[in-house]
Amino acid sequence: MPKSKPSKIKYDCAKCPGFCCSYPRIEVSEDDLERLAAHLQRDVDEVRRQHTRLYDKTERILRRQKDTIYGQICGFFDTDKRRCTVYEGRPDVCRQYPNKNKCGYFEFIRFERKQQEDKDYLPTVRA
Ligand code: SF4
Ligand code: SF4
Repeated sequence: MPKSKPSKIKYDCAKCPGFCCSYPRIEVSEDDLERLAAHLQRDVDEVRRQHTRLYDKTERILRRQKDTIYGQICGFFDTDKRRCTVYEGRPDVCRQYPNKNKCGYFEFIRFERKQQEDKDYLPTVRA
């Protein structure tokens, strides 16, 4: 069966203030922790303790920090430059998102910016 051509990416994270990084639960596995620790050149246990916490006693998630746009956002997000500070070491869920060539949030802000005729318009929405 011929391989289908990968479809063109239809979103631009550089034009988005990082909505997906404001999701309350960004899950991290042990593999993610090891990758993050290697990227930060830190000890795995130290990264686990400082940058993650347990949700519902079973799921390990990234800690968050205050954010003026979304209320809260991932602790690894640079809230001034609006980008990930550990991009090469980020967890698998961050690598996979949005799992397709379109991002629903980007479609939404693109539509709203067109309606408002303002390329920087930010509709209020919380994850
Ligand atoms: S919400 Fe979509 S466009 Fe915005 S940073 Fe995440 S993947 Fe990129
Ligand atoms: S690790 Fe990076 S990409 Fe993942 S949620 Fe945090 S800031 Fe966003």
